[in-house]
Amino acid sequence: MISKSTIDKVQEAAQLLDVISKYVTLDKQGKDHAGSCPFCGDAGKPKKRPFTVNVAKDLFHCFKCEKGGKGASSFLMAHKGITFPEAIEMLAKDYGIEVEYENNKPKPQQPKRSKEKFVSFRDQQLQASGIPEEAQRCKVRLDEDTEEEIDRYQAATINEPGK
Ligand SMILES: [Zn+2]
Repeated sequence: MISKSTIDKVQEAAQLLDVISKYVTLDKQGKDHAGSCPFCGDAGKPKKRPFTVNVAKDLFHCFKCEKGGKGASSFLMAHKGITFPEAIEMLAKDYGIEVEYENNKPKPQQPKRSKEKFVSFRDQQLQASGIPEEAQRCKVRLDEDTEEEIDRYQAATINEPGK
Protein backbone atom coordinates (compact mmCIF):
# COMPACT_ATOMS: atom_id res chain seq x y z
CA MET A 1 0.00 0.00 0.00
CA ILE A 2 1.10 3.56 -0.71
CA SER A 3 2.75 5.27 2.26
CA LYS A 4 0.90 8.04 4.08
CA SER A 5 3.75 10.47 3.42
CA THR A 6 3.47 9.89 -0.35
CA ILE A 7 -0.29 10.46 -0.24
CA ASP A 8 0.28 13.70 1.70
CA LYS A 9 2.91 14.90 -0.78
CA VAL A 10 0.73 14.11 -3.77
CA GLN A 11 -2.36 15.75 -2.28
CA GLU A 12 -0.38 18.86 -1.47
CA ALA A 13 1.19 19.09 -4.93
CA ALA A 14 -1.83 18.18 -7.02
CA GLN A 15 -3.92 21.32 -7.04
CA LEU A 16 -7.53 20.61 -7.92
CA LEU A 17 -7.71 23.41 -10.49
CA ASP A 18 -4.53 22.26 -12.26
CA VAL A 19 -5.71 18.68 -12.49
CA ILE A 20 -9.27 19.44 -13.61
CA SER A 21 -8.00 21.99 -16.17
CA LYS A 22 -6.35 19.11 -18.03
CA TYR A 23 -9.77 17.64 -18.73
CA VAL A 24 -12.14 20.60 -18.64
CA THR A 25 -11.90 24.14 -20.00
CA LEU A 26 -12.61 26.31 -16.99
CA ASP A 27 -13.47 30.00 -16.84
CA LYS A 28 -13.81 32.27 -13.89
CA GLN A 29 -17.44 32.42 -12.81
CA GLY A 30 -18.01 34.54 -9.72
CA LYS A 31 -15.57 33.29 -7.09
CA ASP A 32 -15.48 29.80 -8.61
CA HIS A 33 -14.10 28.36 -11.80
CA ALA A 34 -16.65 26.72 -14.05
CA GLY A 35 -17.08 24.84 -17.29
CA SER A 36 -18.93 22.08 -19.10
CA CYS A 37 -19.44 19.01 -16.97
CA PRO A 38 -16.99 16.20 -17.72
CA PHE A 39 -19.43 13.68 -16.25
CA CYS A 40 -22.82 14.46 -17.82
CA GLY A 41 -21.54 16.63 -20.67
CA ASP A 42 -23.90 19.48 -19.88
CA ALA A 43 -22.47 22.78 -21.09
CA GLY A 44 -25.05 25.12 -19.58
CA LYS A 45 -24.74 28.69 -20.81
CA PRO A 46 -21.96 31.28 -20.69
CA LYS A 47 -21.70 32.54 -17.10
CA LYS A 48 -23.98 29.68 -16.09
CA ARG A 49 -21.82 26.60 -16.50
CA PRO A 50 -22.99 23.62 -14.47
CA PHE A 51 -19.61 22.27 -13.39
CA THR A 52 -17.88 24.38 -10.75
CA VAL A 53 -14.55 24.17 -8.98
CA ASN A 54 -14.16 25.82 -5.59
CA VAL A 55 -10.41 26.26 -5.13
CA ALA A 56 -10.63 27.51 -1.54
CA LYS A 57 -12.60 24.46 -0.42
CA ASP A 58 -10.86 22.02 -2.81
CA LEU A 59 -14.28 20.93 -4.10
CA PHE A 60 -15.78 20.23 -7.51
CA HIS A 61 -19.48 19.87 -8.24
CA CYS A 62 -21.95 19.69 -11.12
CA PHE A 63 -25.38 21.04 -10.34
CA LYS A 64 -26.91 19.15 -13.30
CA CYS A 65 -25.82 15.59 -12.53
CA GLU A 66 -24.85 16.25 -8.90
CA LYS A 67 -21.46 14.61 -9.31
CA GLY A 68 -18.87 16.11 -7.05
CA GLY A 69 -16.13 15.50 -4.56
CA LYS A 70 -13.14 16.83 -2.71
CA GLY A 71 -9.61 16.95 -4.03
CA ALA A 72 -7.79 16.03 -7.23
CA SER A 73 -7.72 12.31 -6.41
CA SER A 74 -11.53 12.20 -6.06
CA PHE A 75 -11.90 13.93 -9.40
CA LEU A 76 -9.67 11.37 -11.15
CA MET A 77 -11.43 8.47 -9.44
CA ALA A 78 -14.82 9.73 -10.63
CA HIS A 79 -13.66 10.82 -14.07
CA LYS A 80 -11.53 7.81 -14.97
CA GLY A 81 -13.24 5.16 -12.85
CA ILE A 82 -10.02 4.30 -11.06
CA THR A 83 -9.28 3.45 -7.43
CA PHE A 84 -7.75 5.81 -4.87
CA PRO A 85 -4.25 4.22 -5.06
CA GLU A 86 -4.38 4.39 -8.87
CA ALA A 87 -5.31 8.07 -8.71
CA ILE A 88 -2.43 8.77 -6.30
CA GLU A 89 0.03 6.89 -8.53
CA MET A 90 -1.18 8.78 -11.58
CA LEU A 91 -0.85 12.17 -9.87
CA ALA A 92 2.56 11.24 -8.44
CA LYS A 93 3.75 10.50 -11.97
CA ASP A 94 2.40 13.83 -13.27
CA TYR A 95 4.05 15.78 -10.46
CA GLY A 96 7.32 13.84 -10.42
CA ILE A 97 6.79 12.47 -6.91
CA GLU A 98 8.36 9.16 -6.02
CA VAL A 99 5.78 6.71 -4.69
CA GLU A 100 6.82 4.87 -1.54
CA TYR A 101 5.04 1.71 -0.53
CA GLU A 102 4.52 0.33 2.94
CA ASN A 103 4.40 -3.31 3.76
CA ASN A 104 2.01 -3.19 6.63
CA LYS A 105 0.85 -6.71 7.22
CA PRO A 106 1.30 -7.18 10.97
CA LYS A 107 -2.29 -8.38 11.39
CA PRO A 108 -2.30 -11.31 8.93
CA GLN A 109 1.07 -12.48 10.32
CA GLN A 110 -0.23 -12.77 13.86
CA PRO A 111 -2.98 -15.35 13.24
CA LYS A 112 -0.63 -17.35 10.98
CA ARG A 113 1.85 -17.86 13.81
CA SER A 114 -0.96 -18.82 16.17
CA LYS A 115 -2.30 -21.23 13.59
CA GLU A 116 1.04 -23.04 13.24
CA LYS A 117 1.25 -23.29 16.98
CA PHE A 118 -2.29 -24.57 17.11
CA VAL A 119 -1.70 -27.27 14.48
CA SER A 120 1.38 -28.63 16.23
CA PHE A 121 -0.41 -28.52 19.59
CA ARG A 122 -3.32 -30.47 18.15
CA ASP A 123 -1.03 -33.02 16.49
CA GLN A 124 0.46 -33.76 19.88
CA GLN A 125 -3.01 -34.12 21.37
CA LEU A 126 -4.09 -36.46 18.58
CA GLN A 127 -1.01 -38.61 18.91
CA ALA A 128 -1.57 -38.90 22.64
CA SER A 129 -5.21 -39.85 22.05
CA GLY A 130 -4.23 -42.92 20.00
CA ILE A 131 -6.52 -42.25 17.01
CA PRO A 132 -5.33 -44.15 13.92
CA GLU A 133 -2.98 -42.18 11.70
CA GLU A 134 -5.34 -41.90 8.73
CA ALA A 135 -8.14 -40.48 10.86
CA GLN A 136 -5.72 -37.97 12.33
CA ARG A 137 -4.66 -36.73 8.91
CA CYS A 138 -8.29 -36.42 7.89
CA LYS A 139 -9.13 -34.38 10.95
CA VAL A 140 -6.16 -32.09 10.48
CA ARG A 141 -7.19 -31.39 6.89
CA LEU A 142 -10.80 -30.74 7.82
CA ASP A 143 -9.95 -28.41 10.65
CA GLU A 144 -6.99 -26.63 9.13
CA ASP A 145 -8.86 -23.43 8.33
CA THR A 146 -11.27 -23.38 11.21
CA GLU A 147 -10.61 -20.00 12.75
CA GLU A 148 -13.09 -20.76 15.50
CA GLU A 149 -11.01 -23.67 16.65
CA ILE A 150 -7.90 -21.52 16.69
CA ASP A 151 -9.73 -19.12 18.95
CA ARG A 152 -10.64 -22.00 21.22
CA TYR A 153 -7.01 -23.10 21.29
CA GLN A 154 -5.87 -19.60 22.12
CA ALA A 155 -8.43 -19.36 24.91
CA ALA A 156 -7.30 -22.77 26.21
CA THR A 157 -3.66 -21.66 26.17
CA ILE A 158 -4.51 -18.51 28.08
CA ASN A 159 -6.44 -20.51 30.69
CA GLU A 160 -3.70 -23.08 31.09
CA PRO A 161 -2.00 -22.65 34.44
CA GLY A 162 1.61 -21.46 34.37
CA LYS A 163 1.40 -19.86 30.88
ZN1 LIG B 1 -22.74 16.97 -14.71
